Amino acid sequence: MAAIAALIAAVVASFLVSRQVVTPVQRMMKLSHRIAEGEYEERLTVSRGVRSNQLDELDQLALSFNQMADKLEKTETMRRQLIGDVTHELRTPLAAIKGYMEGLMDGVLPAEPETYQQVHTEIDRLQRLVNDLQELSRVEAGAFQLMPVSISLPGLIETIKGNLGHQFEDKGIQLETQVEPYLPNIMVDKDRILQVLTNLVGNALQYTPSGGKVSIRAARDKSEILISVSDTGIGIAPDHLPFIFNRFYRTDKSRTRASGGSGIGLTIAQALVKAHHGRIWAESAGEGKGSSFHFTLPAVG
Ligand code: ADP
Repeated sequence: MAAIAALIAAVVASFLVSRQVVTPVQRMMKLSHRIAEGEYEERLTVSRGVRSNQLDELDQLALSFNQMADKLEKTETMRRQLIGDVTHELRTPLAAIKGYMEGLMDGVLPAEPETYQQVHTEIDRLQRLVNDLQELSRVEAGAFQLMPVSISLPGLIETIKGNLGHQFEDKGIQLETQVEPYLPNIMVDKDRILQVLTNLVGNALQYTPSGGKVSIRAARDKSEILISVSDTGIGIAPDHLPFIFNRFYRTDKSRTRASGGSGIGLTIAQALVKAHHGRIWAESAGEGKGSSFHFTLPAVG
């Protein structure tokens, strides 16, 4: 009798224990199938108190599973958003090219060099957008290799002046540089940091009217080097400021689209500065009050 009772108790106990294990595993399997089919909303419930620090292995597995689902959902949202953004960006130049072509075919637009020039400008814009997107996907995926070398800041800033100086002269904008003496070298990928600076100084040039001033400053700030590009240009309203590093974000869509800006430059600059373990941010007192862009890089010595 005792043996039978023990056997029954053992069977019941093992049934209960295995159910405790099998049920959550089955739920996990079901959910993973759902995720594979593109349904990301559902999550597993973690039975014991998350705060009590008494999670067993199954709870920990459920937590990791939920974290994975969160990440997948986020990636999927970003992917959808990117496709939406790119579609939107492509639509405008394509519609313009189609319009010019239809005008030419119907004889409404004259078959003259100016008309072809306009088509060419739109195609140019498309090409720039595609190049920017390619660069963006590369930097966002981290699919680029930094080749850090020790460089001096005065030299770097002189290069920028040499590259863009004549455009400042043409537009009648003063370009001023202030480099703190005895700055240590920085250990960076020269081309990438040049790309960041070119973007910031190029934007300052673009968004500052003639007669204005742009300053490039470099100074030591504890263990970092702080590089700033300030302008006396159109400024950025406080409600736009938090978003300007987002891809495709432009404070005035029609104006900057007309001038060819895709709103990707700052996103790329941010990714490049982060890859160098630095920070980048923007400040502006408001519209018409100029803007300052700052970024930090670790100092070498
Ligand atoms: P874009 O190619 O449009 O210039 P960016 O990513 O470089 O793209 O800049 C994003 C947006 O941030 C710009 O469209 C502009 O609205 C704003 N912006 C950037 N730099 C400045 C600046 N120096 N002054 C005013 N607005 C700026």
